[in-house]
Formats: sequence, C-alpha cells, structure tokens
Amino acid sequence: MSEPTDYEARLQAFVGRELVARRPGPDPVNVPMIRHWVEAMEDGNPIYLDDEAARATGRDGVVAPASMMQAWTMRGYAASVRPDTAPAGPSASDDLTGLLAEGGYTSVVATDSDFEFVRELVPGDHVSVEERVESISPEKKTGLGTGRFISTVKTYRDASGEVVATQRWRILRFRPAEKPAPKPARPRPAINPDNAFWFEAAREHRLVVQRCADCKSLRHPPGPACPQCGSFQWDTARSSGDGHVYTFTVNHHPRHPAFDYPLVVAVIELAEGTRLIANMTGVAPADVEVGMPVALDWLDDGDLSLPIFRPKES
Ligand code: ZN
Repeated sequence: MSEPTDYEARLQAFVGRELVARRPGPDPVNVPMIRHWVEAMEDGNPIYLDDEAARATGRDGVVAPASMMQAWTMRGYAASVRPDTAPAGPSASDDLTGLLAEGGYTSVVATDSDFEFVRELVPGDHVSVEERVESISPEKKTGLGTGRFISTVKTYRDASGEVVATQRWRILRFRPAEKPAPKPARPRPAINPDNAFWFEAAREHRLVVQRCADCKSLRHPPGPACPQCGSFQWDTARSSGDGHVYTFTVNHHPRHPAFDYPLVVAVIELAEGTRLIANMTGVAPADVEVGMPVALDWLDDGDLSLPIFRPKES
C-alpha cells in the first residue's frame, strides 16, 4: 500500500472530478412509467395521471412525481448484470471505487440523499444526469467501521441542458468493523438429582433454599439429608433475595473467557440465614465491602440462570 499522505493526495484528487459523464435516460418522461410508479407507491394524487385535475391546480397538464427523478435516468436491470451493455473502459467511478478498495474501504452504505427540484417534469421531457465528486472526508470512526464519507452531486438536466434538479448524494465507504468473538458460555454446573430443583427454580428466576421437612432448618448447598436431624424429607422455601456480603474476593487471574475481570466472587448471606456464592453486578470491585446490603438480580446465560447480587439501594 502507498504511504498514507500519498494515498490521501490521490484520493483528494478526485474532488471536483466528474464521476459519471452526462448520460441521457433511456426513455423520455412518459405516462405508463408514471402510472406504474404511483400504483407501486400508492400515491393517489390525481395531478400525475389526470390532465383535468392537474390543470385545476394551475399546471398545463399531468406532471411526473418529483421522486421519480432518478428513475428517468436509471439504465435498468440489464445494464447492471450484463457487462456488454455497460460503457466500454473503466470509468472515473470505477477508478475511485478501486482506490477506496486499496485503502481497505470495501463496504458501502448510502447515508443521505438531498434533492433540490428546479421544475416539475412533464411527459416528453428527456432527462440526463451527470455526477461530480463534491468532497471526500478524512477517515472517520463510525458504528459500522472506519471509513470515509463520499459526497457527490448529481445534476439532472432536460433536453435543452437546463438544470431540472440536483441531488447531493452521500455514501460511507468503510472497512467493516471487526466483530468481537461472541462470549463463550459460562462453565456449566454439574447438575444431579440432589441439586436439579435449585437450578430449575433459578431458570424461572426464583431463588429457593432447601428446607428440612422435619426440623424445618434451611440448608445450602443442596444435599440429600438434613445435617441437623438426618431427615431425607425436604421441601423448599423461597428466599426474599435480600442479604449482605459475608465475604468476597476479587479474581484477576486465571481468566476464563466467559467472565469479565476483575471478577467479584462473593459469599452472600441471605436474610433467611443460608449463604451462597455468587457474582456481583452494578458495583466496581473496589467498592465492594463486607457487610454491604445486597439485593437479588439474575444473570441469564443461555439455558443457565444464576442469582447475582447488586448493592441494595437504601
Ligand atoms: Zn432436619
């Protein structure tokens, strides 16, 4: 690739240049094309098809919709797909496209079109168009990628060379932004018959705590038997989700691509008395404190939902 300054100079040399030489449209302005247009656009204004209605507005007869201006100069489908119908040799437009591709600006999006109409077209007018480069912007960062705005002016003339409309046309030629690789899923928990109920409830955004059916003591993490009385009978209690930070650590390394670092790993003591390990959200790692009151939120990662805690607003 050329040196940037040289490249810039070659690019700016296009400003003021004619990109497309004056080229007459394939057909003069005509009623059948107007009819197809207004039907497609569902434009019921009678001045486009009804002479009498047009005369009632002070016109001499029907006029073409202003928005058809470009349509009168389009070369049609065949010219866009059959090279033998295109004009011979590379055009200035091809040269500019090539130079932009050399700079890596391979993608294109139209950003705006600004028309100025001088007079209405009437059947029999034969419109031609020419296009000139108005400006090429310095490189700019956009949401789509880094690129340059190319502004051109298309001048529409009638058969006698009088200007009937001008169109400022702006496109962005850009290098497509490199999309960051999608974040991989978090490592999955080992779900077994003893803890499945807890993850199933979490999927429904319910934080539950296992409760002994006999002595009513709560326990977490889930297990088959009550550590207090040994009973295998249990049910669950729904937690309010309120609690406080019992203790925490901030993990910097090693890093797993599914997590954001620094990663707060906290032991949350729930208001019900049991503790669980969870991440925190809505707080900078440096601002987490032991004893900090927290409230429950949810983190959804595909089919896995996990409780996550944020500082409770007092
Ligand atoms: Zn028990």
